[in-house]
Amino acid sequence: MINLDDPKRFRPLVGQAHQVAMNMLRPISRKYDLAEHEYPKELDMLAAMIDGLSESGASEGAGASGVRREEADEDTTVKNGANLASVMSIAEMCWGDVGLLLSMPRQGLGNSAIASVASDEQLEKFDGVWAGMAITEPGVGSDSAKITTTAVLDGDEYVLNGEKIFVTSGDRADHIVVWATLDKDLGRAAIKSFVVAKGTPGMEVERLEHKLGIRASDTATIRFDNCRIPRENLLGSADIDDKQGFAGAMATFDNTRPLVAAMAVGCARASLDLTRDLLSEAGVEIDYDRPATVQSAAVAKFLQMEADWEGAYLLTLQAAWMADNRKPNSLEASMAKAKAGRVGSDITLSCVELCGTIGYSEAELLEKWARDSKILDIFEGTQQIQQLIVARRILGLSSSELK
Ligand SMILES: Cc1cc2nc3c(=O)[nH]c(=O)nc-3n(C[C@H](O)[C@H](O)[C@H](O)COP(=O)(O)OP(=O)(O)OC[C@H]3O[C@@H](n4cnc5c(N)ncnc54)[C@H](O)[C@@H]3O)c2cc1C
Repeated sequence: MINLDDPKRFRPLVGQAHQVAMNMLRPISRKYDLAEHEYPKELDMLAAMIDGLSESGASEGAGASGVRREEADEDTTVKNGANLASVMSIAEMCWGDVGLLLSMPRQGLGNSAIASVASDEQLEKFDGVWAGMAITEPGVGSDSAKITTTAVLDGDEYVLNGEKIFVTSGDRADHIVVWATLDKDLGRAAIKSFVVAKGTPGMEVERLEHKLGIRASDTATIRFDNCRIPRENLLGSADIDDKQGFAGAMATFDNTRPLVAAMAVGCARASLDLTRDLLSEAGVEIDYDRPATVQSAAVAKFLQMEADWEGAYLLTLQAAWMADNRKPNSLEASMAKAKAGRVGSDITLSCVELCGTIGYSEAELLEKWARDSKILDIFEGTQQIQQLIVARRILGLSSSELK
């Protein structure tokens, strides 16, 4: 029989993440929403704590780097591993604050990219770094196969040229994982990811964006002008292989999309929890033993949102669990991201609506969560792109057959 309870061994980790979210993130949520571009210095202590938990093994390998897939071993038993631990703890942290979670030192999406693609030597070399991920360019968003930033081998160095925009943690992180092409004529197979250390000559943060939500997180434009990096900073293999090339870089998404889905799940649950309390204070009680149709419209709406949330949560767990068990999960990662991204935006905005003036004002964080959640339906592949990927996978069509 399927057991839908959270795995017992992760309960202490999830409990700790919840305490951190409630006691450390929530109290500074509004402060850094208002003080856009100011570094949340409180996160330094928290990041050190997370590092300590990782080193002691107490965090079950959770976090941005927890997405690495182990080599196949003899053990064929089903396991709940670091991917599952990561999505569950990230959801809890985002119950606290998505923007602050995205600002957490050493927990960038670039860290997940390194964990996904790096060789063992590279993993050691980049241990302990804080890495953002730079794919998007002024003319390249959803169609990342069209990347124009170039990487040319010159002796023992790659020379990078191009501009990257909307890089999360692009200013604060100490490393950036940059997607660039080795040869524009060879299409997607020539796209590789490169790790660039902050301060490398030729790399310049040009500006920071002002945003609708996740204002605690910095979002940067970075220019690479003859920026030279060691050739061993190319992640994975330098071979241009039509079958493997882009698939290698894209494998990052199979690991990071469930993490973004988890962020949406956490933020939406924050809205639901607060809305339930506010409805109760207003005398609207939810009766789980009676059908929604015989209760008030507000309760019916709330129950429908909770059902939607549950679907998003279970899809997210499934995608992460499949990664832990070395099962191909591109379809499930996109399904989780599509469902959680949409449901996250719908729920947080509907909670603003249900709570009326309290929902819309800055008296509570509901309006902030509605702003914060929108990005989770955009970055790491938009809602429309996730649906396209799901359709291609189900229909067995290639990207040129279904655009
Ligand atoms: C706050 C923030 C943080 C970000 N962080 C990062 C980061 O760290 N690293 C990074 O590389 N990027 C980042 N991004 C960029 C983000 O990944 C892109 O915005 C996203 O991929 C969409 O690209 P685009 O904005 O160019 O939109 P476009 O690709 O131009 O799309 C515009 C609209 O058209 C739709 N669309 C596009 N193609 C299709 C299609 N084939 N079928 C149907 N609909 C389609 C899209 O879904 C979207 O609604 C960030 C963006 C924001 C706003």
